[in-house]
Amino acid sequence: MKLWLEPQGFAMTTNAKGSAAARGATAAKGKIVTRGHCQCRGIEYEFTGEPKWVMHCHCESCRRAVSSPVATYVGVLLEQFSYLKGEPTYYESSPGVKRYFCTVCGSPMAYAGAQWPGEVHLFHGTLANPEQWPPTGHAHVAEQVTWFEVSDHLPRYAATAGKGAKPMRKGPKH
Ligand SMILES: [Zn+2]
Ligand SMILES: [Zn+2]
Repeated sequence: MKLWLEPQGFAMTTNAKGSAAARGATAAKGKIVTRGHCQCRGIEYEFTGEPKWVMHCHCESCRRAVSSPVATYVGVLLEQFSYLKGEPTYYESSPGVKRYFCTVCGSPMAYAGAQWPGEVHLFHGTLANPEQWPPTGHAHVAEQVTWFEVSDHLPRYAATAGKGAKPMRKGPKH
């Protein structure tokens, strides 16, 4: 299964270098365009339209992938997504799970799993403008680090938030 698109859209890149691009968002053909990049900017991407969701994941595998207490993702469809520059490599953290990163600067870039065909889950920290897409929920809070809490009132899911899952609560634990 192909979970990561080949570089494309270079023609689009050359005429998209205006000030709107520098802000990380612009409107093309009436659609919102969101851009992101790794720390060294060797890899740049964009997606059009709104993400499917924006979630914090508290599972151990994601924590290890980003070496931080929580990993935050922007879930988009592959058909919304394209590279503008460069291409990451990946580490297969478990069967069917590819974790993409920049080979130059080491920035984690994305997650793609066989469980989520047709999607790429971009790391929120790669967005050009982190204010653009605030989180919509928390996944895998059953694995959350006990000393880590977020004071938002978003839904918390014990495991995955997909496929009809019901949140265990909204807001931080008391
Ligand atoms: Zn890089
Ligand atoms: Zn996770």
